[in-house]
Amino acid sequence: MKAVVMKAINNLEVVDVGRPEPKADEVLLKIMAVGVCGSDIPRILKFGSHVLPIIPGHEFAGEIVEVGADVQGWELGDKAAAAPLIPCNKCEWCKKGLFSLCGDYKYYGSRNDGAFAQFLSVKANNLIRLSDGTPFDWGATIDPAANALHAFYRAEVMAEDTVCVFGLGAIGLFAIQYAKILGCKTIIAVDINDEKLNIAKECGATQIVNSMKENAVDAVLKYTDGHGVSAAFDMSGAPSAQEQAILSAGKMGKVVFLGISHAALHLSEKAVDNILRYQLTIRGSWNSFSNPFPGKEWTDAARLMDEKKFNPDLLISHRLLLDELPETFRKIEKKEIVFNKIMFYPNGMK
Ligand SMILES: [Zn+2]
Ligand SMILES: [Zn+2]
Repeated sequence: MKAVVMKAINNLEVVDVGRPEPKADEVLLKIMAVGVCGSDIPRILKFGSHVLPIIPGHEFAGEIVEVGADVQGWELGDKAAAAPLIPCNKCEWCKKGLFSLCGDYKYYGSRNDGAFAQFLSVKANNLIRLSDGTPFDWGATIDPAANALHAFYRAEVMAEDTVCVFGLGAIGLFAIQYAKILGCKTIIAVDINDEKLNIAKECGATQIVNSMKENAVDAVLKYTDGHGVSAAFDMSGAPSAQEQAILSAGKMGKVVFLGISHAALHLSEKAVDNILRYQLTIRGSWNSFSNPFPGKEWTDAARLMDEKKFNPDLLISHRLLLDELPETFRKIEKKEIVFNKIMFYPNGMK
């Protein structure tokens, strides 16, 4: 089969490798769509993976073409997406059902081979069923959608909440869509890219703020009659946005950090003061899993796609063949491409 192998940092190659054989608890998935995650970019271009060489790619969906001997409930021809985490199921956190916190996990696409390939053997326990009406490339976006839902569950967002989302990558845009699904009346989207802000409007943002052009905190206060929002999310990983999220939250507000910054955060006096005086709650959100594995984040995201309440088409910016993957990462590195979700079709586009 054809696969893209990462042999070293910033070294991707399309090669012919043997087709994997599913073990007893696995199915063989014919990969119909696989997305590029924000985390794939530093993994491939800068930091490398936990294992090398490796086939990256962990946001995928496909069709079952082989079923392992012990697998129940799945048949040839079934459509499925899959959660990339393989938790140990033994540690304290797995036993509590907090699989995102597992200390001894494996992961398709970073610790195990992933889906930048025509086929992948996947544990049946990781599969999420896709309805007939759900396109494969939508299924491949369940991962970022589930990450957005996890952050919203962390903040226990309800219809009464006023919401602000900083950073409009795939997770941020799903967050905006979900706030609309919940019925939130004020949904403020903040980014530095006008194109992404316009997509956020289509996703349901009631106000958009370009933080390069205006002071994001002032704008949020203006749109909330000076109160600030009750739930602020940083999905950008930019330290400046992390502080703005804190400053955008009103009294008793919740602030959730999801974006990875790879940097320190120095808070202004005002931001520190607000944490105390406004009794803010700051929560981290890590990945997308809950009990029973992979969790309601995954089943809810698949259901919302089946019901056409989530619209992943709004955030898929590129549709490409697997052969174009190394060149696409070269363009990402050289900043020659403006993108949101880049989707590859290892078995061709239908
Ligand atoms: Zn990811
Ligand atoms: Zn564990």
